[in-house]
Amino acid sequence: MNKESIIFIQEIFGPTIQGEGPNVGKKCIFVRAAGCDFRCGWCDSKYAWKIDENSQKYKSFDLAKQIINLCHEKCCSQVILTGGNPCLYDFSYFIDQLHKNNIKVDIETQGSKIPPWLNNCDLIVLSPKPPSSGQPNVYNNIKVFLNNTITKVAVKIPVFSDLDIEFLKEYHKICVNKASVYAMVGNDNTEKEGSISSEILKKYEIIIEKILKEKIDPIYILPQLHVLLWGNKQGV
Ligand code: SF4
Repeated sequence: MNKESIIFIQEIFGPTIQGEGPNVGKKCIFVRAAGCDFRCGWCDSKYAWKIDENSQKYKSFDLAKQIINLCHEKCCSQVILTGGNPCLYDFSYFIDQLHKNNIKVDIETQGSKIPPWLNNCDLIVLSPKPPSSGQPNVYNNIKVFLNNTITKVAVKIPVFSDLDIEFLKEYHKICVNKASVYAMVGNDNTEKEGSISSEILKKYEIIIEKILKEKIDPIYILPQLHVLLWGNKQGV
């Protein structure tokens, strides 16, 4: 655990609500790491791909202090680490300090890197990217991790196509009794301004219909709640 470890952050925002996964609707503050080792075609956080002039460099110690103060000031006990890919950094000291202040830390990452400190999170949301992303499959990483962790894990897969549903089925097999599985309605309209809720709800209906025909259970099928509410707006 290194209090001096360097972390680049793209944005900090909240309190808002978690829009996805097991903690959907929960009041939280988001901490978005800068930098990603993937380049998903439909990524809704392209601005976090690279460390650039908008990224802020922190020592773990300073980041923890700032976020603890923000949580206290805003009366918020839940932080979500996201990205980019937060697993490019060492968040072990950060998580430890937040826990000492009774603040929970969930993480969302695609599973390309599995650092040991991942197990210190309160909830790990692994989001392997399906064929529509054009990115590598991290199946083996996730299979090994699920067999060895005792932390609460959810596997969340964005669904854009029939091939993505096949991908979801493969992952569901290794998640049985180990992780809850979420199929998330893909948003391929990430550049559009204003409301996109009607498009998302139409896709939601189609995806529900398709997935319910498959022999996969248990399964959660959800849209991104924040996208329904606020479209592609950043920082909400
Ligand atoms: Fe975007 Fe996440 Fe894919 Fe990285 S892994 S490119 S942040 S969707």
